[in-house]
Amino acid sequence: MPRDRRIVPEMAGHLGVRLVFAMAKLSIQDLQRLPKTDLHVHLDGSLRIPTILELAELQQVKLPADSVEGLRPFVEVGEDCKSLVDYLRAFDVTLSVMQTYDSLVRTAFELAEDSALENVRYLEVRYSPILHQQNGMTLHAIVQAVLEGLRQAERKYNIKTGVILCGMRHISPDISQRLADLTVAFKNKGVVGFDLAGAEENFPAKRHKDAFGRVLQNNINCTLHAGEAYGPESIHQAIHLCGAHRIGHGVRLIEDGDLLNYVNDHRIPLECCPSSNVQTKAVKKMADHPIRLFYDMGLRVTVNTDNRMVTNTTVSREFQVIHEELGFNLEEIKEVIIMGFKSAFLPYALKRALLAEVVHELKAFKPHSLESKREQL
Ligand SMILES: [Zn+2]
Repeated sequence: MPRDRRIVPEMAGHLGVRLVFAMAKLSIQDLQRLPKTDLHVHLDGSLRIPTILELAELQQVKLPADSVEGLRPFVEVGEDCKSLVDYLRAFDVTLSVMQTYDSLVRTAFELAEDSALENVRYLEVRYSPILHQQNGMTLHAIVQAVLEGLRQAERKYNIKTGVILCGMRHISPDISQRLADLTVAFKNKGVVGFDLAGAEENFPAKRHKDAFGRVLQNNINCTLHAGEAYGPESIHQAIHLCGAHRIGHGVRLIEDGDLLNYVNDHRIPLECCPSSNVQTKAVKKMADHPIRLFYDMGLRVTVNTDNRMVTNTTVSREFQVIHEELGFNLEEIKEVIIMGFKSAFLPYALKRALLAEVVHELKAFKPHSLESKREQL
């Protein structure tokens, strides 16, 4: 049975106050104050634009523009983006300045810092080390650099982090196997999972199933981008051939009710990235985003940024979007937040402790924006 926990007038006992709670908008500041996760964010899509300019100058790399405003159209896609392939063009610019150890330490630190400043308490950063070897860095160094940047942020802020390494759909399956080996080598050292990213159409996941086999046999978690630029068959392959524990995006799960029920029954989390999905045209417009339906059906949904810079967003902004455009109220947002923490690739004991802390905070949370409205009554 679909559930619908949105407050309707008949449910509101004390009409005045409760109705204001049901209808008043949460401010972005309130959403920033809530503890949150970001389980799906790409390092190479989440830089600060001034940092790209500074790194280019330091490394003598030529960029398509030499000012923040000049570079913006090359690294933020906006509404003109036509497809996932179009969206991925911004990464040519970012990757050009992410080929040194120090640049990886810095960009990883800054991503975790930006996340911590909007109260993201648990962050899983993903990237594909194979894309950072243009200057000959070793794969081990590429992983160590990102872990170092994240640890620096953990020492400074109240944030826990993990790394997900990505195989690439359009790159040879042999490379995915090397990246799977790298994931195994860094198990319990900061790498918490393995992913498959990149252009989805014409590049099926099943070609990479040996890499996923290796990761799974070493008892490591995996997630796959699927059902974003291709249909539910892609999600089917991700789960049944590659053993996905979570699905990146999964918007097209809506096209296959039987598979949707399986995903629901097995509590397979969906890493939803609403704004990114509109930009890549995985959904036509926000009002069509299936996260509302998935949530109402009881699926485990999480809210994520995908790429903080390329999509020009934050986790708080993504919650604002589902609040304002898809009608998620505060209680529902709190529940989605809890599902985010439940879906973390963390050892169970750590996850339980973090979850207990967050549940306690969410219970005590009072939105300032709604309080000021209540005082006006
Ligand atoms: Zn992604």
